[in-house]
Amino acid sequence: MPIKFYNTLTREKEIFEPLDPKEVRFYSCGPTVYNYPHIGNYRAYLFADTLKRVLEYNNYNVKHIMNITDIDDKTIRDSQKNNQSLKEFTEFYTEEFFKDIKLLNIIPPFKFTKATDYINEMVKITETLLEKEIAYKSGDGSIYFNIKKFKEYGKLSHIVLEDQKENASGRIKADEYDKDNAQDFALWKAWDESDGEVFWETTIGKGRPGWHIECSAMSMANLGEQLDIHTGGVDNMFPHHENEIAQSECATGKSFSKYWMHNEWLLVDNKKMAKSAGNFYTLRDLIDKGIDPVAYRFWLLMAHYRSKANFVWEALEGAETALKRLYRLYEELGADIGQVDKESKDKFNEYISDDLDTPKALTVLWDVVKNENISKADKKATLLDFDRALGLGFENIKKEEIPENILGLAKEREQAREEKDFKKSDELRASIKELGYEIKDEGDSYRISKI
Ligand code: AMP
Ligand code: ZN
Repeated sequence: MPIKFYNTLTREKEIFEPLDPKEVRFYSCGPTVYNYPHIGNYRAYLFADTLKRVLEYNNYNVKHIMNITDIDDKTIRDSQKNNQSLKEFTEFYTEEFFKDIKLLNIIPPFKFTKATDYINEMVKITETLLEKEIAYKSGDGSIYFNIKKFKEYGKLSHIVLEDQKENASGRIKADEYDKDNAQDFALWKAWDESDGEVFWETTIGKGRPGWHIECSAMSMANLGEQLDIHTGGVDNMFPHHENEIAQSECATGKSFSKYWMHNEWLLVDNKKMAKSAGNFYTLRDLIDKGIDPVAYRFWLLMAHYRSKANFVWEALEGAETALKRLYRLYEELGADIGQVDKESKDKFNEYISDDLDTPKALTVLWDVVKNENISKADKKATLLDFDRALGLGFENIKKEEIPENILGLAKEREQAREEKDFKKSDELRASIKELGYEIKDEGDSYRISKI
């Protein structure tokens, strides 16, 4: 089945054709490890994971690299605030990130690359750009990319260059800036006192890399000079990805990534969820409310990755209830695994391969669950097959732990039923419900579940 992806570079849905049919070279911008990621950040990593799963579902062999930004303005700033070395500080949040992605059922990439392990590669690209006179050294020893030397600058984000506006030009040292501020950006930042102990002594001087060069260096070192797919959130489009394209294409003389894909915002009260705005939730906040992180994944799959998703607790709780119901229905299918239902699979794949239309793909999943013409064993095989793309974790459903007091009340109720004391049995059912559990009679036995 041909896969179609929306390519930000062309603003069109295109048929996916990798440069080398034997291996898809896929790079995702990963976390900046200066804090716990918020669930908006996880939208980006869940999107990348779904994309990889869909490629693999279609039998592509995918080499996926995700970076860990362990050196940038924010990691330096906050490690100093915390009185910790950059390494100690960033390693802590890297580990927290690894724990979270496991809880979200994200398949780890082929390799996580830490920016600090690729300083030599960053220096080499910067030297090439200096030799080609596309980069230049400023008075303080920092090295900037001259955006006027790259005629295609702005081709991804469609920005209007500063020199096309009035009174504008200059350079910017900060890693992050907005579209109205497009200027020469820092490839290498000469050490100053605010960097403290964070610097490298290199052939291009004492200092540290700019954020954008990090991803060019890590992607090319692991995947070669040309990639198939590069992903990130929409805010990465400018300046980060625009700058990655500029420096990579100028250094190699080749086009950098064939497809650029960006996930839309997770919003709260219709505003972007962001650390700086203080309107964010972490995965820990979900867990503290008793919500399985996979329910967040499930909720996101109900929206297309290119649509904004407005986060509300009630919607997430609804997704959690639906997911638990799905797990229950799956468990009721028994132990036998039959054949994947071909008609359903074709429909499912048609949707997910159409620029990851997960909302439509989920309707196929529910149709399978409800379809009385598919045997239990075949349903099980089909759901397991779909789950390779969706990552809802049917294979490792955790049995709900029912507390001892609830089990005790359920036993008492069973006894009352045997003695035909239905009044008592109803009272016990009500008490169980008050404690947040539901009891469902199934022939001679019963099932307890959390409401
Ligand atoms: P950062 O750690 O700030 O570099 O962000 C990591 C990833 O999260 C990037 O791909 C961002 O585009 C993405 N991101 C940040 N905030 C949101 C949000 N509210 N919704 C969706 N993606 C986001
Ligand atoms: Zn990046």
